[in-house]
Amino acid sequence: MSKRYWNNPTIANYIKKRLQKYKDYTYQRLLAEETSLLKKIKIELNKIRELNIEIKKLSNKESTEQAEERKMKDFIWNEKVEKEPLVAQKINLQRPSRSYDGIFKLRYLLALGISIFIIYLWAPDAWPFSLILAIGPAILLIFLFNLMLENADSHEEEKLYEETKKYNEKISQNFNPSQKFINYKKKLEELPNIYSKNKEIKKKLYNERKDSEFEILVLKKLIIDFKNLKRNANEKEKSAKIAALESEKRIGAQTVKEKLIKSVKTKDYWDCPYCEKNKDFKNAQADHIHPVNKGGLSTMQNMILICSECNSKKTNLTLRAFCKKFKLNYENISIKLEKAGKDV
Ligand SMILES: [Zn+2]
Repeated sequence: MSKRYWNNPTIANYIKKRLQKYKDYTYQRLLAEETSLLKKIKIELNKIRELNIEIKKLSNKESTEQAEERKMKDFIWNEKVEKEPLVAQKINLQRPSRSYDGIFKLRYLLALGISIFIIYLWAPDAWPFSLILAIGPAILLIFLFNLMLENADSHEEEKLYEETKKYNEKISQNFNPSQKFINYKKKLEELPNIYSKNKEIKKKLYNERKDSEFEILVLKKLIIDFKNLKRNANEKEKSAKIAALESEKRIGAQTVKEKLIKSVKTKDYWDCPYCEKNKDFKNAQADHIHPVNKGGLSTMQNMILICSECNSKKTNLTLRAFCKKFKLNYENISIKLEKAGKDV
């Protein structure tokens, strides 16, 4: 069910919009928000529970009203049936009946008689089986008679309807209903109004329940998407921390470099401690003897001024690896560095 919802572009957009709000939230704030979303789901679930109780109450009320309606209708009908003959007798009236009943019955008898007669003429030896054999032609004849008398029949029906209507009018004019009858009639007239009001309330309750159900679905989807949001926030915060740490390191390294240059400046002689070829310290660069990416610190003990050429070769190599790669004397360099107060 939910998948169908998320594939609906309107709903997908709606959720996207709601997610926008959390875009710049920190990890901690997202955690707090997640808890509040879970609380909201609980609130909506409670709402649904209460709505269900109300819907049930209303349904019970409706079935009570329907039972009441049946009871009242029965009472009214019974009183009518009971009193009708008395009223008719009083005003000397007879309930109209089908005047063509005679013809109606006669056409069946006629059909059967003719059929038996024909069968008898056709096979006199078959008697008394002719009676059974006559049923088939009789049905056919009745069908023909009905077709022939169709107009007369409908005319009779109309006449009967009109007469019955007049009769009923006269009966009700002279009808003396009981108080209960009058009360029930009044109540029955009010019922459609009550029913339509119930229907309205029910519709409102159903809509509210639907809204809550939808909100729960959305909240659940948001919580699912919170996994991504939290991960992103976490990564962002981590990389921000790393960036801060690195800038701190850079500042540290810069300070040490300045100190190193100061100490070299006071001397009247400098050469690159690694290659011993370059003697101009103006282009000198500060090297971490033990590389930063291997945990080397920006301290006076771990940093030394070297020529830019050596610096571009050494990059992230340890001193031993650098010497090996460029065929320098590691032992000599180590001794020299130690003498200068460096850690090797
Ligand atoms: Zn050098």
